[in-house]
Amino acid sequence: MSDYVNVTELFGCDVFNDSVMEERLPKKVYKELKKTIEEGKELSPEVADVVAHEMKEWAIEKGATHYSHWFQPLTGVTAEKHDAFITAPKENGKVLMSFSGKELIKGESDASSFPSGGLRATFEARGYTAWDCTSPAFVRHDAAGGTLCIPTAFCSYTGEALDQKTPLLRSMEAINTQALRLIRLFGNTTSKKVTPSVGAEQEYFLVDKEKWLQRKDLTYTGRTLFGAMPPKGQEMDDHYLGTIRQRISAYMKEVNEECWKLGVTAKTQHNEVAPAQHELAPIYAPANIAADHNQIMMRILKKVASRHGMRCLLHEKPFAGVNGSGKHNNWSLTTDDGINLLDPGKTPHENVQFLLVLTCILKAVDTHADLLRESAADVGNDQRLGGNEAPPAVISVFLGEQLGDVLDQLISTGTATHSKKGTILETGVKTLPDFMKDATDRNRTSPFAFTGNKFEFRMVGSRDSISECNVVLNTIAAEAFKEACDRLEAAEDFDMAVHDLIKEYAIDHQRIVFNGNGYAPEWAEEAKRRGLPNLPSMVDAIPALTTDKAVKLFEEFHVFTRTELESRAEIQYEIYAKAINIEAKTMIDITTKQIIPAVIRYTTVLADSINAVQAVGAIDVSVQLDLLKKCSALLKSTNSAMNKLSKAVAKVPEIPEGRERAVYCKDTITKAMEELRTPVDELEMLVDKEMWPMPSYGDLIFEV
Ligand code: ADP
Ligand code: MG
Repeated sequence: MSDYVNVTELFGCDVFNDSVMEERLPKKVYKELKKTIEEGKELSPEVADVVAHEMKEWAIEKGATHYSHWFQPLTGVTAEKHDAFITAPKENGKVLMSFSGKELIKGESDASSFPSGGLRATFEARGYTAWDCTSPAFVRHDAAGGTLCIPTAFCSYTGEALDQKTPLLRSMEAINTQALRLIRLFGNTTSKKVTPSVGAEQEYFLVDKEKWLQRKDLTYTGRTLFGAMPPKGQEMDDHYLGTIRQRISAYMKEVNEECWKLGVTAKTQHNEVAPAQHELAPIYAPANIAADHNQIMMRILKKVASRHGMRCLLHEKPFAGVNGSGKHNNWSLTTDDGINLLDPGKTPHENVQFLLVLTCILKAVDTHADLLRESAADVGNDQRLGGNEAPPAVISVFLGEQLGDVLDQLISTGTATHSKKGTILETGVKTLPDFMKDATDRNRTSPFAFTGNKFEFRMVGSRDSISECNVVLNTIAAEAFKEACDRLEAAEDFDMAVHDLIKEYAIDHQRIVFNGNGYAPEWAEEAKRRGLPNLPSMVDAIPALTTDKAVKLFEEFHVFTRTELESRAEIQYEIYAKAINIEAKTMIDITTKQIIPAVIRYTTVLADSINAVQAVGAIDVSVQLDLLKKCSALLKSTNSAMNKLSKAVAKVPEIPEGRERAVYCKDTITKAMEELRTPVDELEMLVDKEMWPMPSYGDLIFEV
């Protein structure tokens, strides 16, 4: 790749985006398609045929030979089935390249190879992928050649969602309907659509590929299952936003270019808190596109890393004791004509609307804190949330000093008459100054922080899809907006009613607001006193999906049926138990085949040395002896901890699948894993580095 990059030319060059469509499609067809994209109008088969044909022609020019319906099943990664454009050979032995509207709109995929949480037992194995025309198709180039990827939703034969995208699209419809109602009440008659805007900051680690290959734990599970902390950890702050080293810079350059080609607006990149950790953030986009782009970005991060002799670790906690990785899901609500409903605004009129939106969100998050927590539940994230870093497993909202103060005034007097800036405001609740410009504090410990004109949900794991949390955010906000609109539409005096409502919500849900240090142990106590849920593990969080409250919420807005929720809970339990099992088995494997033999070799060396030295004469061998005793004792502990873990793992198949098995894995297996790790990590500190069978933390994170 040459050094000079013309970004404007490169950007979106492999995307069938609006300008390509406008250029290539007949005017009438383009207009029809735009109506479908913008207003959700159904696409006629004739129009679909024309679009498909042009898309194919364009893709072939870009070097594509195949097309693929690209979807996001519940395994957390993306899936696709590739079909060549070619048709059956004609009599003259030649093939044609074809692609019909039907093939564009609808695909068939064997659903039985993807998790369905019981849905596949009750329904047909057949699954359908349906084109999400609001997210543009793109051509991806890799070793297999060029593929036209068509973003799709994935459903069962009877319409149950089997993926992440279907509920996301449904939730976007719900929030659109209710948010439009709300802004109409405030006199907005011009905006046609409200879309959740999302920008996901992605954290990741880079390690050297050769070293990665020497660690079975990293290759099989994505995280280190053993490993003692290096003498230098992240306590030295020199890395944060430090000079990005040459190798990394070259990597990032290529990542950016690959992202840009596919229309992903990679914008901000920097080193993170931990050594070898980095972050990449795009410019925000509509939630479904942001979710697609995040998947594309994760793939690019991995692909480019292997080209540069590295591995990109997306696991939430690759190294114990070192800062883990997450995704910050920035979320706001934007109208088609560019109004951000979470922007505090300048005029009193808009500020009332803002205060209502804000208090509705407080209500939504307080009412459904358990669901929001669940949306970030992921096996790897259990290592991170609730640990002494990153957000705690308790949901709370950070508003900042000035906005928090406005809320306090609302609660105590019913009206906000001043702001901390000291400005005299207009009467009543109706004003808010440009407070964010002067807001000094920036709380990094809050899981859900108001940051100027958006909320930042920081709990999501680095490997996880951002779809789930946005499904929850959109739907719980829709519910709160709906309840507010129901009351306001029925009110005689609107001004009075909205004033009362804001006050009521502020009072009823103030417990969810917390501006202090979320990492402090006192906060967990305080949260308990406030009655806020604390769900430290994924297994604790899953039941939130199927409470009566959750079922009522999701059914009301047609986001999930009870059956879909139950199936999702089942899948989560299954994923959890499987992942823990793989980790446990990997630990046993490494201990048996690598750790124990290495320690035996080392103790033999020590014993030989003791004998050899003693043969020379009466020389003090107490150091060798001491070391030999320590290592032998730890070897014994290692062996018994391993036997205990092996027995625990052997029992897994006897435990009924589902919640029971997941609980067993959490309570018994993970505990036994910790017990095995302790003596092994102590051994790593004693055994000759040359003899230790794998690269250390220091090797992995300081020598990328
Ligand atoms: P941080 O200080 O957390 O790094 P940035 O200003 O860099 O914050 O923004 C982080 C992310 O938030 C980016 O992906 C950005 O596009 C996104 N973002 C900015 N404004 C909004 C908004 N109004 N709605 C949603 N996401 C937004
Ligand atoms: Mg952030």
